[in-house]
Amino acid sequence: MFNLILFGPPGSGKGTQSDRLVEKYGLVHLSTGNLLRSEIAEKTPLGIEAKNFIDKGQLVPDEVVIGMIDNSLEQHRDAKGFLFDGFPRTANQAKALDKLLELKRTTIHNVLALEVSEEELVKRLLERGKTSGRSDDTDEAVIRNRFSVYQNETAPVADHYKAQHKFKAIPGEGSVEEISAALSEQIDKTLDRQQQEAFE
Ligand code: AMP
Repeated sequence: MFNLILFGPPGSGKGTQSDRLVEKYGLVHLSTGNLLRSEIAEKTPLGIEAKNFIDKGQLVPDEVVIGMIDNSLEQHRDAKGFLFDGFPRTANQAKALDKLLELKRTTIHNVLALEVSEEELVKRLLERGKTSGRSDDTDEAVIRNRFSVYQNETAPVADHYKAQHKFKAIPGEGSVEEISAALSEQIDKTLDRQQQEAFE
């Protein structure tokens, strides 16, 4: 199995790059943002609760997103691997993910972090807000709040994976193709290592 976390602040290109990588490597894409937005669209109780947090640029409670990830892992027992996009976003979520994967006798293999300047992120998000239909992308105050939540609660998740020697920063400014190539290079290295170990 091969499990990847695509890490980075809102607007860093995780969604765009995830679409390309799941296609290339045959992974199951698990985006907690997408899962929450479909709960909202279906007006489920979870979606109605989550909307209050999302509209303010706050994080949805850990137990809600961890439960969603647990269900999704169960639904895809035969997956070749998972690409986690927008999860984990807190140290508690990272610890819970470690435990869930351990129960499935697997682990996270790579955490690739897209690095983009804040100025460029705001520009991208406001641009995306014009067409995405996402209310959290149209209000600059909400966008700034999402950044401060990222700095305070999500950025520390990097340390969790640095300690496990799984973390690698990738420049997130450039063409979509250049960034995909840089991500693929890291993934290919890990997959080559996995293959070698299988022969040893
Ligand atoms: P995203 O599409 O990843 O930018 O997520 C949009 C919003 O959904 C975030 O601003 C949060 O309010 C919520 N959300 C998505 N993923 C998580 C997560 N792992 N933990 C908590 N809240 C989340």
